[in-house]
Amino acid sequence: MSESGPPKKRFPLTLDFVTGIAGRKKAATPHRLNSTQTATQNAAKAAGQTSTQSGARSPTGTRGSQPAGTVTGTVSSVARTAAPRMQPVTAMATDRHANVPLVSDAVRKAMVQRLAEQGVRDPMVLAAMEAVPRHLFLEPGLASQAYIDASLPIGYHQTISQPYIVARMIEILREGTSGKLKKVLEIGTGCGYQAAVLAQVADEVYSIERIRPLHEQARNNLRPLRIPNLRLHYGDGMLGLPQAGPFDGIILAAAGLEIPQALMEQLAIGGRMIAPIGNNEQVLKLVVRTGRNEWLADTLERCHFVPLRPGTFG
Ligand code: SAH
Repeated sequence: MSESGPPKKRFPLTLDFVTGIAGRKKAATPHRLNSTQTATQNAAKAAGQTSTQSGARSPTGTRGSQPAGTVTGTVSSVARTAAPRMQPVTAMATDRHANVPLVSDAVRKAMVQRLAEQGVRDPMVLAAMEAVPRHLFLEPGLASQAYIDASLPIGYHQTISQPYIVARMIEILREGTSGKLKKVLEIGTGCGYQAAVLAQVADEVYSIERIRPLHEQARNNLRPLRIPNLRLHYGDGMLGLPQAGPFDGIILAAAGLEIPQALMEQLAIGGRMIAPIGNNEQVLKLVVRTGRNEWLADTLERCHFVPLRPGTFG
């Protein structure tokens, strides 16, 4: 709450009580969401187009806005010169992907070029997006579409987030941090892709998934990548992970109507949380904890995520 704002309310606070960050300090540079692709639109478009891998998976076969490999444009000078040298996350081909045609590093580089053109500036985030092989997080039938800027089905009515929104949210989380973030919590592991990207920019990453088969799928996807600083948990992310907190960064990959109070509490003082909020109309909210009983919030760009749901499944 701003000192000049209404009288301080003690925790727990709903977002309605949290004053805008903009009133006190300059808000994170607002960027418009350039792509019209959204998670549910893509999942819906995918419906019925190709065969499914398992009964529980959503129908797959999404066509995105562009076929992979047709991305044009040049890398911005920021991306080309300032990106830190990050080790690519390599994996031995797993059986699951043994028959997938080789998805070249060049296609992933083109995705990163496009992200830079869409306004993602943080060199560490761009390097992380280049390091993580997104195609390994998709079923083989979708792997060739892994580097289009679209969310795609991962089963259980859930989706892997669009690359732009993954990069943008992590960039917002990192704003004002020169090196790596220390400890980050992700709510909504899904297939594990964003968690793997987060693990490139943070010392320790914890990620919670409420759907057990997806939690297990993420484990399988991540195993060959051998990422030592990433821990996956099965449970209700709305409760956070009090035993591991407080966190310098919290990122929600699913949209609730408000930010769960447990997560507000588990944010370290000075920490940043980025969360989609809303139902049909959603916006990204940034919450910064400025004191023991003080949080500031700001509304950023529009977005579209699957819903945040309480409890566990499976
Ligand atoms: N992070 C993923 C996106 C997954 S989609 C990526 O890399 O692309 C969002 C995920 O949030 C879904 O898998 C959904 O099951 C999960 N989710 C929704 N509510 C949750 C909750 N309360 N706790 C944990 N996970 C939740």
